[in-house]
Amino acid sequence: MSKKVFEALKWASSFLTAAGRDENAGELLLCHVSDMSRTQLFANMREELADEVWTRYCDVVHEHAEGVPVQYIIGYEEFYGRRFTVNPAVLIPRPETEELVYGTLERIKRLFGIDNQGLQLADIGTGTGAIAITMKLELEADCPLGADKCPRRVPGTNEGTMVFATDISAAALEVARGNADVLGTDVEFFQGDLLQPFIERGMQLDVVMSNPPYIPLGDMESMSEVVTEHEPHGALFAGEDGLDFYRRFMDELSQVLASRALVCFEIGAGQGKAVAALLQGTFPSAHIEVVNDINGKDRMVFAVIGFGE
Ligand code: SAM
Ligand code: GLN
Repeated sequence: MSKKVFEALKWASSFLTAAGRDENAGELLLCHVSDMSRTQLFANMREELADEVWTRYCDVVHEHAEGVPVQYIIGYEEFYGRRFTVNPAVLIPRPETEELVYGTLERIKRLFGIDNQGLQLADIGTGTGAIAITMKLELEADCPLGADKCPRRVPGTNEGTMVFATDISAAALEVARGNADVLGTDVEFFQGDLLQPFIERGMQLDVVMSNPPYIPLGDMESMSEVVTEHEPHGALFAGEDGLDFYRRFMDELSQVLASRALVCFEIGAGQGKAVAALLQGTFPSAHIEVVNDINGKDRMVFAVIGFGE
């Protein structure tokens, strides 16, 4: 039996609430299956849905009720105002990571100047490419010549900030490359383990950013199954205390960093002190900052190295 738009939304909202999911997902899912924007949806509240749209809607609402993240169903997530394609090979970008991007942009401008010509920046464990692609686009947008005339827009030139991104997962890199194409950026992707692609190529980096896996294995039991049963474990978990990747970075960073450099990590809540101590131990004269996210949790660590602090 067919349904009007508002009836379908009402049904989904109570069905999802009963299943313990976010009731607002119903709206996003209806936009997706009916190919309407939110505005169109609200303008057509009293219209009947076509039978096949209603059937498909029931299917996707059930799928989400069973735990499949909405973003994997609709195929995208917004990050820093842009749309990134996602699939189960990649972590769904989180809002906390937008804060890492923002904090890094601020520091790049302060340390290297607005023009930041010739900088080399790398995003390690890029997933969807959200960090690398956003950094490239935002640095272009800040260009004093305007985004269109920015020399960084010219592919293959060594002017402006060169952005590199790596992942150990070939499937993730495929998603990231697709996102870079759609968003029209020039990011260079390497597959490999942590900083090895740069060590092998003898490259020097001015800025290293990473949101590595950082969840302690023991937390798996207490996490939502929307995450643990659907997102890639290779993107989430990092040993007993969640710090394995930061420790490995300490062994490799000094082989790739330029004499003046900025390192920017996303961390799990409660890991600030430990990660700051690791960085301070590796770079004794660096200036290390632990920064909280908007929820007041320690979420970012920045290390400013070689600026004569
Ligand atoms: N940067 C993306 C973001 O912030 O949304 C994804 C971050 S996700 C937490 C971590 C990523 O690191 C995953 O894409 C995973 O495949 C990748 N990864 C895991 N182990 C790695 C390794 N040894 N070397 C490089 N990347 C790795
Ligand atoms: N913030 C993610 C989560 O809580 C974890 C991302 C990560 O391990 N880097 O699910």
